[in-house]
Amino acid sequence: MKELDETEAFAKHAEIVTQELAVDPEYGLDESEVVARRNRHGPNQLRAHAKQSAFAILAHQFKGVIVWLLAFAAGLSFYFHDIAEGIAIVVVLAINAVIGFVTELRAARSMEALLDIASVTTRVRRGGRAQHIDAHDLVPGDVVLLDAGDVVTADLRLIEASNLQCDESVLTGESVPVPKQTGVVSPKAAIGDRSCMAFKGTAITQGAATGVVTATGMATELGHISHLVQTADSAASPLEKRLDRLGHRLVWLTLALAALVIGAGILRGHEVAAMLQTGVALAVAAVPEGLPVVATLSLARGMWRMAARNAIISNLSSVETLGATTVILTDKTGTLTENRMTVAGYLVADARLNLDREGEAVHFERDGRRVDLEQEVRLEPLLRIGALCNGASLGQGDEPPSGDPMELALLRVAQQAGQGRETLLTGCEKVSEYSFDQDTKMMASVHRNGEGFFYAIKGAPEAVIGNCSHVLGPQGVQDLDSTSRHEWEDRSRQAAGEGLRLLALAMKETDRDDEDPYAGLTLVGIVCLRDPLRSDVVGAIAAARAAGVRVVMMTGDHADTAAAIAGQAGLGTDEGHLTVIEGDELTDFDPQTPDPALSDRILAADVFARVAPATKLHLATLYQSRGHIVAMTGDGVNDAPALKKADIGIAMGQRGTEVAREAARMVLQDDSFGTIIAAMRQGRVIFDNIRKFVIYLMSCNVSEVLIVGLAVGAGLPMPLLPLQILFLNLVTDVFPAFALGLGAGDENVMRQPPRDPDEQIIDRHRWMTIAVLGGAITLATLAAFWLALHWLKLDDAPAVTVAFLTLALAQLWNVFNVRVPAARLFVNEVTRNPWVWGAILFCLVLIAAALWLPGLSEVLKLPDPGPAGLLLAVGASLGPLVIGQIFIVLRRAPDRQSPAQTTAKS
Ligand code: ATP
Repeated sequence: MKELDETEAFAKHAEIVTQELAVDPEYGLDESEVVARRNRHGPNQLRAHAKQSAFAILAHQFKGVIVWLLAFAAGLSFYFHDIAEGIAIVVVLAINAVIGFVTELRAARSMEALLDIASVTTRVRRGGRAQHIDAHDLVPGDVVLLDAGDVVTADLRLIEASNLQCDESVLTGESVPVPKQTGVVSPKAAIGDRSCMAFKGTAITQGAATGVVTATGMATELGHISHLVQTADSAASPLEKRLDRLGHRLVWLTLALAALVIGAGILRGHEVAAMLQTGVALAVAAVPEGLPVVATLSLARGMWRMAARNAIISNLSSVETLGATTVILTDKTGTLTENRMTVAGYLVADARLNLDREGEAVHFERDGRRVDLEQEVRLEPLLRIGALCNGASLGQGDEPPSGDPMELALLRVAQQAGQGRETLLTGCEKVSEYSFDQDTKMMASVHRNGEGFFYAIKGAPEAVIGNCSHVLGPQGVQDLDSTSRHEWEDRSRQAAGEGLRLLALAMKETDRDDEDPYAGLTLVGIVCLRDPLRSDVVGAIAAARAAGVRVVMMTGDHADTAAAIAGQAGLGTDEGHLTVIEGDELTDFDPQTPDPALSDRILAADVFARVAPATKLHLATLYQSRGHIVAMTGDGVNDAPALKKADIGIAMGQRGTEVAREAARMVLQDDSFGTIIAAMRQGRVIFDNIRKFVIYLMSCNVSEVLIVGLAVGAGLPMPLLPLQILFLNLVTDVFPAFALGLGAGDENVMRQPPRDPDEQIIDRHRWMTIAVLGGAITLATLAAFWLALHWLKLDDAPAVTVAFLTLALAQLWNVFNVRVPAARLFVNEVTRNPWVWGAILFCLVLIAAALWLPGLSEVLKLPDPGPAGLLLAVGASLGPLVIGQIFIVLRRAPDRQSPAQTTAKS
């Protein structure tokens, strides 16, 4: 079988294309054929998603400045015939590379696996059944079913298209959606003119279609545009960049310092070779090479934790931004509420009809008395309009229900009352449909009705009532005068105030099927739907409040419904006061030239009702202009610009469109608001962890530089030998740092205000901490060294062992000095981190090996200092721990205040 050349598909009839691809569009491919084609064409992936090879990661380990410094040091040793030391440095270099390689490989694989979770699904027809599959599994010949909001995942020749429009800006730069059809186009047509094709990466903005896959992966038009492919995913996060910058700045500082130490040492009469090696070791000690890698690893791990809690994040920098979020602009339906709607009752001209359920059966009540369909003549048209003007499906056999939950509720109640859609449609076939429009807030469908036509309309009450000239009263059709219009408005406001979602139902009967569907309608009634609050929402909103994060609701729903739900969820002030702004007030609002009074009102509002998608974009812009970091939820195609604009766009995994998911930085697999808060907590924990290990590593490094520098300056013998510094710095320091990066975080992390996004990782306070901790470790080590020489009267070599041991242990205990100041002394996020204990144990074994393992102790030049020496080292090593803890207590007061002062100004 010859498979199609994709460049020709648009110039051929759809039937020819499907014949060439050997597929029956009504049946699709079957599984064995899919497997064969996948083997032939490979997965439907762009190369940007290809794995970073292990070899590339290994090669990367040999590009850093540390490796060159170490190679230089090893070269020096060999040059001066210190073969053992030369080999030892090479071993250290290898260990360093292995640690770096393993860490980076894990981080990279972790990220790739995350991309897989976030992968897009596509609806296909295979073996005669419609099913969702991973878009990577598409093969040429697959029959793809598309709806508005889908992202096209392969190049398709369209077979059927109704009202179809595509946003092809990814390919053509053209931002206006283009109409699509199924007819043949000229073989010379440019991409933008191939109207019978839907291309990978583009989005369906309107309509529905069926298409057959003509090209996948790199063979698609998108695959041909290589520069797009390269921009795909893995840009370094700002945090990683900042860490990198910090590292670079330190390199120069250290090199200068090392040069100074070398110069001073040589002047003091130390050997040139020894001083050169010491200088190199110090430079290695002070360059925080591991920082970006540990940061990547802990960010990637954080992303996994978030994924386990149903929040899928697509890039590292969002993890960091999440922790700094100051305001969440959230949807109502489905995010705060369950989006599991049930009909609670109906408002008709002179009464309220309540619904009572007994298992699967429903009964209607009027003034507490049961009424049936004969007694209450308006029930039948209410049920009929709800079921006919409806795009959902309850499903048949093992096919699950699909469509808008509100429409499903209308179908369900009609069926339960014996007015199923199938029954209603017999003799009343649908002729046309005017799909729901967010601007008019209405939808209509037209049905054959004997010789004439029946129009069924549903929509937001104010929109529908505005188009009604009549109302169906108990005695038949009556005029809808202004008094009764006001009555209807009052009654709907009252029902909305109970948190019910309202839809007005109207109709008209005419002899034409092409009239304006919304002119001259007869109002039949209003259906009230209940959508319960999600059970975790009240707790999550309280948590957000405690964390200093404002939660603001934006909804397309009625102001009173929105306010009632917001009140139940706990939005507004502590006193329960809620400020609601209606969308109409915001239509002319321009955040570029804002009216200051209106801006202030907007910033103080808790609920925005009847908002249009464009307003969401303006709200995000306004908040950002006032220094806020904005997280915003959205699900529709029209929400995409706002999701992109927000600092963290959040799309819904279950009910969101693919377009929204592509535009968002985070996808909530369970659509739940509580998940946002959980992810935010992770974001904060990760940032804190990164800070912790930066402080930890830097204070350890500072101490190493100071110890040697001061000893040389003071004319003492060398307290640490180059290889020992390398051992400490590249072997033992690393594990506690990793452990800190993996911590589960402080329990109070969500009781503090968000961090200022511009805040440095290491601000003035934290530099001070590094200086104090580094200083304390230096002091303890030099003191132990001096006492070993002058009090215990040890020789130089065992005295060096005492200094080494003091430093090694003091650095281990130093992990406990990076706890949050407000936490308790013994029970805090560091002592509760099992990784920390594991790292300490492991390092103790390594240190013991350095001291007592025959061979290693000789290479490292660490003779046993005897029991007194050991005791001195252990005792002295505790000094910095005590000083660190005292410093934490003294620092507690200013540290508690600082974050509050830096939050965004609202
Ligand atoms: P949220 O923003 O919380 O999801 P929403 O779904 O009410 O709220 P929109 O989808 O903008 O927001 O709908 C606005 C109004 O239009 C709804 O309150 C409802 O009255 C009406 N409406 C929504 N969906 C339909 C539909 N399928 N058919 C007719 N009217 C609808």
